Amino acid sequence: MEYRCVQCGFQVKTLFVQYSPGNIRLMKCEKCKAVADEYIECELMIVLIDLILHKPKAYRHLLYNVLNQQSTHFQGLLWKLLFGFLVLDAYRSLLVRHDEEWGMSMSISSYFWIYRKILVDVFLGNFMFLCCFLLAIRKLLKTSAQFFRLGKLWLAVLISSYFKILLVAMMVWEFPPSVIYIIDLLVLSSNTVALKVITESDMNPCVGACFIAHAVKFCTTQAF
Ligand SMILES: [Zn+2]
Repeated sequence: MEYRCVQCGFQVKTLFVQYSPGNIRLMKCEKCKAVADEYIECELMIVLIDLILHKPKAYRHLLYNVLNQQSTHFQGLLWKLLFGFLVLDAYRSLLVRHDEEWGMSMSISSYFWIYRKILVDVFLGNFMFLCCFLLAIRKLLKTSAQFFRLGKLWLAVLISSYFKILLVAMMVWEFPPSVIYIIDLLVLSSNTVALKVITESDMNPCVGACFIAHAVKFCTTQAF
């Protein structure tokens, strides 16, 4: 298992030693001498708040120490996250198209037209996102996706898109359409922190790579 110090990202053998049930000692990082992962003793709510605050150490805890690629459930988790991601993307597209076009006519053909557009938004939009994201990583981060495991990269992107869950709130409460774009910006910034953590790169190239990929996805959905 590949664990990381949440402070500096240095690889550590183990995060804690358990002497008896409920009696553990947190291990220290050999590089920065800080406790390798203090989130082990924290409530889930603290981790969630730090994720929302975009703290890289919370992302390291989640991506390296909680969700490990060696886990037997990794592939299953990846597919479930992908399914949830696409469903939320489809719902986002439905909300945008609803505001733009559903008010005009409600005939059967217009329903088919809308659903066709949603499918194009989800599949073509994400295909373009995928291609531009990998290309931007190669150019801006001066590395290829093969450098680190692709599965880990997609896990980071899918997990860090958790702000899309806020779209569910729009089923219950009415928000102005601009909220959709605010959620998009939160997803973009969260993806950037996750990419920085997973590639151990500087912040600026990660901002560039995520911005390019999201901008191309946005333009693709607008163009079609
Ligand atoms: Zn450290």
